[in-house]
Amino acid sequence: MKRIAVSVITPDKPVWEGDVESLVVPAHEGQLGVWPGHAPLLAQLKPGPVVLRAGGEPVIFSVSGGFIEVNQGRVAVFVETAEHAEEIDAERARQAEMKARAALKATPADKMDLQALAALERALARLRATELATRRGGKRGAPPSPQN
Ligand code: ATP
Repeated sequence: MKRIAVSVITPDKPVWEGDVESLVVPAHEGQLGVWPGHAPLLAQLKPGPVVLRAGGEPVIFSVSGGFIEVNQGRVAVFVETAEHAEEIDAERARQAEMKARAALKATPADKMDLQALAALERALARLRATELATRRGGKRGAPPSPQN
């Protein structure tokens, strides 16, 4: 099966690199699938799961905002933060969710706490990624065996 080269990069470090059969990312407009031969693309990403399929168990990350670039048969996913599903501390994410919800509740009705809203989105994205990974057979998206 054809593959496409993918890099997931944060400002701190490259997080993941490999060749995949497909990937799905959380674009602003909704889930966006990319396959080998995909047309060039630049799209904004919101917090959510990135699912990389390379045969076997999918590799799942939670990412926060950023963008995806598909160009010349390569995919670059540039994001503020990216955690492999296995690294996600679900308890920390639940605490972050509760804190953000409390802040939003305490905000006057005519105001909008954008920071709390963004923190809530990040926390929910992390919880969603752990849930997705757990549902897929308990391996929580261990990286695929080397294929490059
Ligand atoms: P918190 O309030 O728990 O710090 P946050 O959404 O404010 O959450 P970020 O600013 O998005 O955190 O991330 C800061 C760093 O912590 C990043 O490196 C991110 O990958 C990591 N991180 C955040 N939450 C978690 C988590 N639940 N599990 C593992 N790593 C996390």
